[in-house]
Amino acid sequence: MEDLNEAIPAPQLHLYNAIPEYLSDIPVEKLDSILPGPALIYIEGNATPPIFISVLLHGNETTGFLAIQHLIKELNLDSRPAPRGIILFIGNIAAAKKGVRRLENEPDYNRIWNGDSLPEHRLAKAVLVELSKQQLYAAVDIHNNTGKNPHYACINRTDASFIHLARRFSKTIVYFTEPHEVISMALSHLCPSVTLECGFSGEAEGLNHVYDYLVQCLTLPAKTLFSPPSDKQSNIFHTIAKITLPDNSHLGFGDCRDTVDMCFRDDLEELNFTSVPAGTKLGISGKNRCSLRVTDNSNREVTDEYIRLDNNNIVTRKQLIPSMFTKNETIIHQDCFGYIMEPYPLKND
Ligand SMILES: [Zn+2]
Repeated sequence: MEDLNEAIPAPQLHLYNAIPEYLSDIPVEKLDSILPGPALIYIEGNATPPIFISVLLHGNETTGFLAIQHLIKELNLDSRPAPRGIILFIGNIAAAKKGVRRLENEPDYNRIWNGDSLPEHRLAKAVLVELSKQQLYAAVDIHNNTGKNPHYACINRTDASFIHLARRFSKTIVYFTEPHEVISMALSHLCPSVTLECGFSGEAEGLNHVYDYLVQCLTLPAKTLFSPPSDKQSNIFHTIAKITLPDNSHLGFGDCRDTVDMCFRDDLEELNFTSVPAGTKLGISGKNRCSLRVTDNSNREVTDEYIRLDNNNIVTRKQLIPSMFTKNETIIHQDCFGYIMEPYPLKND
């Protein structure tokens, strides 16, 4: 009998008490030559408690790892303590080797932080057990987008400390509670926790932005880091629904062949974080009349509230603010087509 798990052994967590040799120079796709699998690395610092930083939960999102390499070199962390202790988690090294979000027969490493059915859930649990052994200052999980989006920070709670930690990265903040299996949600029970979305993977702009942010997290005292920066203005959005497409549907963008199931407008990604009016055409449905599926945070289908088919045109039924619209077909099928958000007014505003 074929053993589906044979190709990918259950991931083990590897613990390190110092920065592994060559970590600051190794190309991301060769990380497996120095780290055999997911790694939790303790980096000594002058101040405590330590900050938790996670990178490469998605193997094709390299900005966080590159920013850490830059940090090690700039602050000389191979020979000097950091301004504050760091606990660094490097996630899906096998996927990073191949430059993909995740491998075919494994779950998404940012959807394993709640649950216990898979070997990867045990990996996540092992990380959380290690982290629960000490107090944490803050938690920062670093990602990239495959579609065009501004740099923004996500939070899973709206406590002031979470908002201010996010605001220090960007005035664009997304509050979400689904998917709830993400690492930032698990960490939100331990300390102020953010997810950074830093534009396209590997771009210098995102790397510098994350590096500057991490330096602030490592050097600022709590009363500064967790209080509003001088420019207090922020735009907080709340994710209220997820958009998916039928599995295996064939997609096109712009000028499409008539073999595709859905043909979307070429400038789709330009709609991210903008207010899209009712009656906006997103694309055309092919002969199978495939369309988008919209589900709310309780996983109830709410497609008809947002989308209608007008002849074969896929049209918005009401005004909406999308995020993470992407034209990357692999990501659409592995994750989703995008999210729908609404402005989130703060009580004190
Ligand atoms: Zn990601």
